Amino acid sequence: MYGTIRGIGAALCITLGVMFGYMSPGANAATLSKEDVQRLAGDTYVVGEVQPDMPAWPLFAAHAAQPEAKPELKAYAFESNDFASVRGYSGKPINIFIIIDLRGRFLDTQLLDHREPIFLRPEGTAKLQAYANQHKGLTLRHSIQLGRPSDTPSHNSQFAYLAGVQTGTISAKAISRTLMTAAANVATAAHLTIPEAQATPIGHSEAPADTTGKDAAKDAMKDSAKDTAKDSSKDAAKDTAKDGAKASAKDAKADISTSTVAPNAGPDLRRDATGNPSASVDASRAVDPSSGRPAATGNNGDSMSMGSGATDTAATDAAELAHAGRQGPAENNAMAGAAISTAANADEPDWLAQWRERRSDIVIVLVALVLLTAALLAQQRFSSHPRRLRVLRTLYLLFTLGFIGWIAQGQLTIVNVTAGLESLAVGDDLSFLMNDPISVILWIFTGITLLVWGRGTFCGWLCPFGALQELVSLMANAIGVRQRRIRAAVDAKLKWVKYGLLALIIVSAFIAPGFASWAVEIEPFKTAISLYFVRSWPYVLWAAACIALTVFVYRGYCRYICPLGAALASMSFLRRWAWLPRRAECGKPCQSCRHRCEYQAIEPSGAIQYRECFQCLDCVSIYQDEQRCLPLIREKKRKPAVINIQPVRELA
Ligand code: SF4
Ligand code: SF4
Repeated sequence: MYGTIRGIGAALCITLGVMFGYMSPGANAATLSKEDVQRLAGDTYVVGEVQPDMPAWPLFAAHAAQPEAKPELKAYAFESNDFASVRGYSGKPINIFIIIDLRGRFLDTQLLDHREPIFLRPEGTAKLQAYANQHKGLTLRHSIQLGRPSDTPSHNSQFAYLAGVQTGTISAKAISRTLMTAAANVATAAHLTIPEAQATPIGHSEAPADTTGKDAAKDAMKDSAKDTAKDSSKDAAKDTAKDGAKASAKDAKADISTSTVAPNAGPDLRRDATGNPSASVDASRAVDPSSGRPAATGNNGDSMSMGSGATDTAATDAAELAHAGRQGPAENNAMAGAAISTAANADEPDWLAQWRERRSDIVIVLVALVLLTAALLAQQRFSSHPRRLRVLRTLYLLFTLGFIGWIAQGQLTIVNVTAGLESLAVGDDLSFLMNDPISVILWIFTGITLLVWGRGTFCGWLCPFGALQELVSLMANAIGVRQRRIRAAVDAKLKWVKYGLLALIIVSAFIAPGFASWAVEIEPFKTAISLYFVRSWPYVLWAAACIALTVFVYRGYCRYICPLGAALASMSFLRRWAWLPRRAECGKPCQSCRHRCEYQAIEPSGAIQYRECFQCLDCVSIYQDEQRCLPLIREKKRKPAVINIQPVRELA
């Protein structure tokens, strides 16, 4: 037995070692120097000095026709973290090097740093970079719709239809929102005027009412293309005039040797102690970097005024751009075809659109949770027939794996826990979790049932990876492979391993976040559920090893390794009821349930360790079974045999 355990342990450790060795950190956090910006911007531009009150670098270029003439201000380069803090799936912002021209058009978008868990490997980062690249050529006023990864990107002057990122929709939407919000804030601060011909009118959207589908997006593009064509000559003339006036005004102020941006370049957006843009912004023009919304000023956009109290075009632009930031792309459906649209009501939170668009998934999951609750409340009736219990439980686990896991992508993960703790530790809220409605619903349900029934409700019924293991065990049983029971003393020691791993992940999330983002890879959920096993071979090997373990040790990964299971189990002190029925004879003398509990969650005394119980209801079924429950067997034997006596008349 010890030899087997040692062999399995060694194999898992080697697999883990290979996987960690294969991983490398993602891009590092960056605070760019002028040299860095020059390198990133390339030879096309000469980088000016960053303004102390606006962390954006002016980019100058020589006049093509008059190389001797004074270089012109052409664009601004900046890091998105200085102007927006849109949080991705990891709960951390994605830092992007951005160049926009003086008309708010994206010229370059380069990922500097991110913590998106699925994309930490270079090839993952490359996928996010490829997504960010699709924004080049768009302006900060485009309505963006996110398509499937295989779709062909296209755009017109108002709408852009981008190819999504496989299993990275939340990350992709975070990138779009980051770009739009940061660019809107820079445009506001730098008094840029975005050509109106390029823009969806601010304050209302011309997007069709249903912007969730590809067809809607394309129709909208067709319509707006017509409108744009109609107005193009008029607007082109207007733009040229505006740009000319603006360029000369800038030329008067911007000198490459002194590299000043407009002296009254607007809001003071210096980083504060937390690294966010400072709040010392002219209140009338402030934009909240976390949401891209205008800071609460008591004024609406129309009545915004400059510091002097005068209303001018720049203030109107600022208001509009702030509004553009406010209506920046909302993160929507986690699956393909979702829209990042400006059509949403400006006053509703961004995540609401996600919930609306995933309402059918939400309804299915809610119905499944209601059914599960009913089954657990009526546990004795539900488990009164062992065969029926097995069939219903297997069907539910198939639903959990297929729908909750692979279709709705509702696998809860320790990444949610670490991201939430990190956010709370720095004073942020947990609103970023709202972008994933299925996970939010499952977390709420798990939280409530933790109080009532313990961790078993989630681990036993709702965890897709747990369901996958159990189904594999059942298949192994069907072909005659039985799992081995671990000796009680060894089992008790091995169960502590998962708590050690949990502690390692949580502590490292605070003191070594880079390591923590590797350590969470101990969970094979991403590989097996989120990425359908389409991933680099070391990850697939690790996931396969965790699944193979269950062939030999029932739900071995859950019982000994899973940090999320450990996190839920460690909350078991919150449970208020010992709800599984027991008899005085449980443990002494009867050990029937204990020997049949595949999870080894029943102590020799007959007491149930709720921390380790997966609520499979097998023991409830045994409790009422006159063939398996010893006290019932005895009672049955003690009962005098009943002879069915029928009246003689009837026999005749
Ligand atoms: S222990 Fe982990 S893998 Fe197993 S069911 Fe619970 S959360 Fe899922
Ligand atoms: S058989 Fe074991 S795991 Fe299943 S409900 Fe009973 S104690 Fe819990």
